[in-house]
Amino acid sequence: MDGLADRHLGGRDREMKQLIIIGEQCPYCSKFRSPRDIMNMPGGAKICRTCELRHLEALAALSTGKFTAECSECGSEPEAQQDRQMAVHFEDGIYRMMCLQCDAVYVRKRRDLYGGTQFAHERKLN
Ligand SMILES: [Zn+2]
Ligand SMILES: [Zn+2]
Repeated sequence: MDGLADRHLGGRDREMKQLIIIGEQCPYCSKFRSPRDIMNMPGGAKICRTCELRHLEALAALSTGKFTAECSECGSEPEAQQDRQMAVHFEDGIYRMMCLQCDAVYVRKRRDLYGGTQFAHERKLN
């Protein structure tokens, strides 16, 4: 990154490791981010820039009824806007949009949360 790190650690490999160690883990995507990309949310929670963007995109989609960004899980964009069907999930205080394939996987993973509910019954999870 900067010449200083190179001099101290002697090489690109070690510099990479150093960056991972000093990064902060985003609780939403579990990825390590540079502290510059981590924001503080009201209430003391932390979120990375990418997850915050997903959340804002989902909010915009909810208010306009149109979703123009990519799936927050796999990053794919549905081909045609008119048959774009996305699922929205509210997770730990933020919204996430997902394509229907990812939604199916996600719902199975979150069975603990939804198990026994009307929602689960409708999705034939029980
Ligand atoms: Zn994140
Ligand atoms: Zn997806």
